[in-house]
Amino acid sequence: MPEGDTVWLAAQRMQTALAGSTLRRGEFRLPQLAALDLAGSTVTEVVPRGKHLLIRLGDGRTLRTHFRMDGSWHIYRPGTKWRGGPGYDVRVVLANDEWECVGYRLHDVEIVPTAEEDRLVGHLGPDVLGPDWDLAEALRRLRAQPDEQIGVAILDQRNLAGIGNLYKVETLFLCRVHPWARVAGVDDLEALVTRARTLTLANRHHPEQSTTGSTRRGADHGVAGRKGKPCRRCGTRILLGEQGPTTQERVTWWCPTCQASRSPIDPLARTGEPDRPQPVTLY
Ligand SMILES: [Zn+2]
Repeated sequence: MPEGDTVWLAAQRMQTALAGSTLRRGEFRLPQLAALDLAGSTVTEVVPRGKHLLIRLGDGRTLRTHFRMDGSWHIYRPGTKWRGGPGYDVRVVLANDEWECVGYRLHDVEIVPTAEEDRLVGHLGPDVLGPDWDLAEALRRLRAQPDEQIGVAILDQRNLAGIGNLYKVETLFLCRVHPWARVAGVDDLEALVTRARTLTLANRHHPEQSTTGSTRRGADHGVAGRKGKPCRRCGTRILLGEQGPTTQERVTWWCPTCQASRSPIDPLARTGEPDRPQPVTLY
C-alpha cells in the first residue's frame, strides 16, 4: 500500500534516473493533459512531499502526481517490456536516453509553476520523511482537534504528512491505543507520533513494509491483514472495522484486548453521542 515511504523510495529512484537529464519523451495519457508534451524539458529534481511526488523541471514548472491506493511508478531500460499493468493503466511516460519511467494508475496529475507548488502541497503538515520534520508542530496540529478519533487524525495529511493506513493501524497496535480513542485521550501522543515516523523511516529504502522486524509474508504485520487471527501478544482475535468520514472510510484492524477502549465512541460499545455519526461497520 503506498505510504510516505513508498513515495520516498520512488522519488529516490526517479531522481537517480531523471535528474539532470533532458526528456526525450514526456507523454500524458489523461484527457485533461493529452496535449501536453514534456519532450525537450530538463528534469532538475524529484522530491517527495508527504504522499505527493514532485518532479521539478528546468523551465520552472513542477509535475505533481499522487499514488492514492493503487498508483506506482516503474522504471525500465529502453526496449524492456513494461510490466506494471495493462497498457490502459499507464498515465504518464517520462523517458530520457537511459531510462523509461512509466506511471501506472496515477492520481492528481497536475503541472503548475514551481513557485506555486504550495497551492498543491502547502496544506500538508510536517512531513515524517522530510528534512523539515517538526514533531512539535505535528503535535500542535493534532491537539488542535482534541475530540477527533486518533485513527482519523493520524491519517489527516494536514496534521502530519506521509502516514498511510498500514502504519496507522500498526502504530496504534504497538502503542496499545484504540483506533476510536479521542486525540485528547491518548496518554502519550508524542510517543505515538514518533513510533509512526520510525516505522515509516525504517522501511523507506525497500519496497517491503514490515512493522514486526520480519519481512516474511504473514509475519510482517502486527494486526494489518490479520482479521480473526490471534493477537501476537495476547491471543485475542483481531477485529476489523471501517473508520473515517463517509466515503473516506479506511479499514482498521485492532486487538480489543491490547487496545482496550476507554472511549465513549468505542464502536463495540455503541454508546456514541447521538449527534456523532457512527461510521463503523464490523465484519
Ligand atoms: Zn492483543
